[in-house]
Amino acid sequence: MFQKILIANRGEIALRVICAAKDLGIKTVAVYSEADRHSLHVRFADEAVCIGPAKSARSYLDIPSVISAAEITNAEAIHPGYGFLSENDRFAEVCRASGIKFIGPPPDVTRMMGLKQKARQVMKDAGVPVLPGSQEALSSAEEALEFAEKIGYPVILKAAAGGGGRGMRVVERAEDLPALLAQAQSEAGAAFSVPDIYLEKYIGAPRHIEFQVLADEHGNLEVLCEREFSIQRLHQKLIEEAPSPAVSPQLREETIAALKKALKAIGYQNAGTVEFLMDEKGKLYFIEVNDRIQVEHPVNEMVTGVDLVKAQIRVAAGETLDQILGGPITLRGHAIECRINAEHPKTFAPCPGKITGLNLPGGIGVRVDTAVYTDGVIPPYYDSLVAKLIVHGADRAEAIARMKRALDMFVVEGIYTSIPLQKKIMSDADFARGAMDTTYIARKLPEFQKAEENS
Ligand code: ADP
Repeated sequence: MFQKILIANRGEIALRVICAAKDLGIKTVAVYSEADRHSLHVRFADEAVCIGPAKSARSYLDIPSVISAAEITNAEAIHPGYGFLSENDRFAEVCRASGIKFIGPPPDVTRMMGLKQKARQVMKDAGVPVLPGSQEALSSAEEALEFAEKIGYPVILKAAAGGGGRGMRVVERAEDLPALLAQAQSEAGAAFSVPDIYLEKYIGAPRHIEFQVLADEHGNLEVLCEREFSIQRLHQKLIEEAPSPAVSPQLREETIAALKKALKAIGYQNAGTVEFLMDEKGKLYFIEVNDRIQVEHPVNEMVTGVDLVKAQIRVAAGETLDQILGGPITLRGHAIECRINAEHPKTFAPCPGKITGLNLPGGIGVRVDTAVYTDGVIPPYYDSLVAKLIVHGADRAEAIARMKRALDMFVVEGIYTSIPLQKKIMSDADFARGAMDTTYIARKLPEFQKAEENS
């Protein structure tokens, strides 16, 4: 096992990794920007190194600074968390060249999964359903029109090297396609230096479901339940839960079997997530692989009892899944996570600032992953996450009741947060029935906001 690891991240995920390392008896090194000097990850790590100014391009994203921090502190491995350098195959490459273990998948796997069509092909070959579409990059508007005609409108144009929704366009009618294709190509070219665009069937009001994967470096791979994150606003996730109320045991079993085949074939290692869209008929279609730990991993931890971050470190140290999991995965109860963001309740604009008063909820079945404290500041330079509030219950109804109770007891003063919106969702009859898709927030918001004005 490693003696010391460095955490190339900040905020709650840096603290989360520190917790896992402490549980394993491993020393930790925090890195921080000048804006994060008073952060809890700096306080609770065994050592801390300032790696630059507030701007992430000159600190958390600066590969030479992060590597130097690892070298001067003799850290043997680096955990990248999520965001920042976590899906940067060049960073994983530099770690390897510097003799430092990168806690994540190998760079060639990251590169392969970053090419969406390649990932689509890998999944298709193993029997994982993918949406009908073009396998190769579109060579002309005529070819695009032909494909779209075949699969039927609406279709979506997507960047082969995509990420963050850039280079993506929904096409409703044939006459709009040539212009939208040109726009998507130039946007993708500017963002990723690769203008390649492919096309697939567009699902209007999908549910969003993803499967949590864990693989060791000896060819073993497990899938630790799915989670649903259909409650989102403009692709920003607000609420996640595991298991998904829309996935039957049979669908879960079939999907897991196909995923195992696909990911073993490409030598997947460490933690990862496979994202799907579910259509109105309840069929799942693969869309992409995220090869890192994700913000919402705690809901899978709560229902499987597996500490995923600890598992990531143990995998990177060469342990087998048998050693780490100690037997088959069994699911227990239901977990829900609310992302408490610093944001304005009407405009949803980020509202960073100083937290003047704070009460974190607790009690049975409640977990809070956060790095905030009274008089601490949410800086404007990074994401606006205040905390992840996670609850676990014997079933979905108990989890919802616990989330309501925990949201009521969660007090954040000095800044606006998404707590009032999340309270409304927890009391909504459609949410209680599990009747949701990605259009839920857009549909419900006027009703929620009206209730707020009348209260
Ligand atoms: P990126 O890597 O750019 O985030 P994704 O493939 O993950 O791209 O897609 C981003 C989002 O766009 C998805 O989460 C989903 O909401 C929407 N999306 C992507 N493909 C489709 C599709 N075929 N039909 C409907 N929505 C889609």
